[in-house]
Amino acid sequence: MNHPVSEIQGIGPRMMEQLESMGITTVQDLLEHFPFRYEDHAVRPIIEAQHEERITVRGTVHSEPSLGFYGRNKSRLTVRVLVDGLLVQAVFFNQPYLKRQIHLGDVITINGKLDKHRLMISGGTLKTKKDSVQEGLEPVYSVKGEVKINTLRKFIRQAIQQFGNQVEEILPPQLLNTYRLMDRAETIKQLHFPSNPEKLKQAKRRMIYEELLLFQLKMQMFRKIEREAEEGQQKNFTKEAVHEFMEKLPFPLTNAQNRVLKEILTDLGSEYRMNRLLQGDVGSGKTVIAGAALYVNAKAGFQGALMVPTEILAEQHKESLKALLDPFDLRVELLSGSAKVKERREILEGLKIGKIHVLIGTHALIQEGVDFHKLGLVITDEQHRFGVEQRRILRKKGVRPDVLFMTATPIPRTLAITAFGDMDVSIIDEMPKGRKPVDTRWAKPNMLPRIIEFLEKQLTKGHQAYVICPLIEESEKLDVQNAIDVHTQLTQALPHFNIGLMHGRLHADEKEHVMNEFAENRVHLLVSTTVVEVGVNVPNATVMVIYDAERFGLAQLHQLRGRVGRGEAQSYCILLADPKSDVGKERMQIMTDTTDGFELSERDLELRGPGDFFGSKQSGLPNFKVADIVEDYRVLEVARQDSVKLIQAEAFWKGEAYEKLREYLKKQVVLNEEKLD
Ligand code: ADP
Ligand code: MG
Repeated sequence: MNHPVSEIQGIGPRMMEQLESMGITTVQDLLEHFPFRYEDHAVRPIIEAQHEERITVRGTVHSEPSLGFYGRNKSRLTVRVLVDGLLVQAVFFNQPYLKRQIHLGDVITINGKLDKHRLMISGGTLKTKKDSVQEGLEPVYSVKGEVKINTLRKFIRQAIQQFGNQVEEILPPQLLNTYRLMDRAETIKQLHFPSNPEKLKQAKRRMIYEELLLFQLKMQMFRKIEREAEEGQQKNFTKEAVHEFMEKLPFPLTNAQNRVLKEILTDLGSEYRMNRLLQGDVGSGKTVIAGAALYVNAKAGFQGALMVPTEILAEQHKESLKALLDPFDLRVELLSGSAKVKERREILEGLKIGKIHVLIGTHALIQEGVDFHKLGLVITDEQHRFGVEQRRILRKKGVRPDVLFMTATPIPRTLAITAFGDMDVSIIDEMPKGRKPVDTRWAKPNMLPRIIEFLEKQLTKGHQAYVICPLIEESEKLDVQNAIDVHTQLTQALPHFNIGLMHGRLHADEKEHVMNEFAENRVHLLVSTTVVEVGVNVPNATVMVIYDAERFGLAQLHQLRGRVGRGEAQSYCILLADPKSDVGKERMQIMTDTTDGFELSERDLELRGPGDFFGSKQSGLPNFKVADIVEDYRVLEVARQDSVKLIQAEAFWKGEAYEKLREYLKKQVVLNEEKLD
């Protein structure tokens, strides 16, 4: 199977190159280049077909074909065919040679697009007995460059002839039997050349399971390796110490907070390395959990780092963590990009000798010249990925700290176990007591005067508000609201209040200044671009107005909405939107329907598909050949459970029945040699 494709009859050097550009170099690659859909070429009654649908019909030729030429080298062949008692006009473009193959009275099979009103089938193909094209389901492949679907199909057929009997089964009999799966060789054959829809279904079922199982095995393997490769740093702390921390909190933890904290503390106290994802909706109270973990870590004599995506958030976390940790004489510092040279040097030195217990900063924190005395815990907040790359940097520095990864973007379960399959997951699925759901309304832009009135009422009550605009400057192409204009407009409309302005072009210290003014209620209304999107916590703010809301994705809208509803008072979110698209309308509908982040994320996934869920940069999702993690989520769950069981079983590591599977995984550089002894 690892033979180069050139060993397939008919593939020369030129074609080899072409195939290589499609990522196909070996026979195995070619055989595993599966069709992405199938065209149904089964003959069907014409009345069952929809207008404009592609259909295959069989009928009797009712007129001599007539051939016309037009343009340069263009031709059109028309012939009347009696199909199911209806006289249908069949039209073939640029296939003049067909005239010789069609004779009055012949029974022919044609495939093409049906114009139901004019009873015409056009743009199609004629199927004669001589054709090698298969009856029934015809596979459609993604192709590139000079490789055409028909050529590819021919090579695959040839490859199956030459190498088909060398396809080895990789799944153990136990799994094949349990799920009654088709064997691998037959599966590959059926996926390319299905005998009938039922066989194809079984082949797909098998390949989906295989693909997801292999993927989950890989994830579980990584998880095992991450946990066990080198001994982690066990943190010793006492129950009493944890108690003391709790007693200083201004509120009791929710049940969910208590549960996840216990999970985290168990990890910290064990010799395994923690690699844990903490999910909790906006406002569910993740910061205090981070604080508790950092506290315990420090008590055990280790330093901690908290990484956040923006400086504003870093600043804010510094305040929250200081409040939590100061009473215990633990030193929290912020390594800011805008810090003065002297200040920075002091922090770096303090870090090196272990005087600083917790360091907060953006990603730069684990990079250039930042050396910890004894780093024991890294927490990231509101980042979709604390990537493999960052972990590698840490490892290169010789530290393998516990890692806690916090996110407020509720990740649908199927995506979570796909993208984060190598992590343990903790979920805060409960809000602190007394929270009222944010009252969310969808408003048309012409309702702005009423919205301003509403803002005035809320501000008069002493509350604060955010107004979000998508971009900071006029753009000719996009008809978006200009934050600076909105600021001017609101300043005029609300003369008794201080209106602040925040956008990405401000310097870090300007941003910090505006944010502080807002946090201390000297700025009453903040006009901002999406820089306030994540993490910012000003409980006195009760209104969130979002301009051009249709331009945002659901996850982002939910994040923005999460900035309000953080205190006791009823909060409001007003979505100013005039969506033209159905998706836009649906999005607004969902936002007004639910404030539950998990429900919302599931619906977002349905609307946008998994590829878009994380945004292009941070997808981190594998490209499956046949599986679809949304449609096949049940199989995904099963595969995950099976993979967990497998790697715990001795048979998997030693048994003969699993040899092929181990070999396959080894080839994928998932297993390393010594693990197999
Ligand atoms: P997020 O999970 O979005 O990061 P935060 O940690 O910022 O949420 O918490 C939101 C607000 O809820 C903060 O003001 C925090 O002090 C408060 N809070 C957190 N936990 C509780 C609790 N158990 N009871 C009451 N208030 C809480
Ligand atoms: Mg937060």
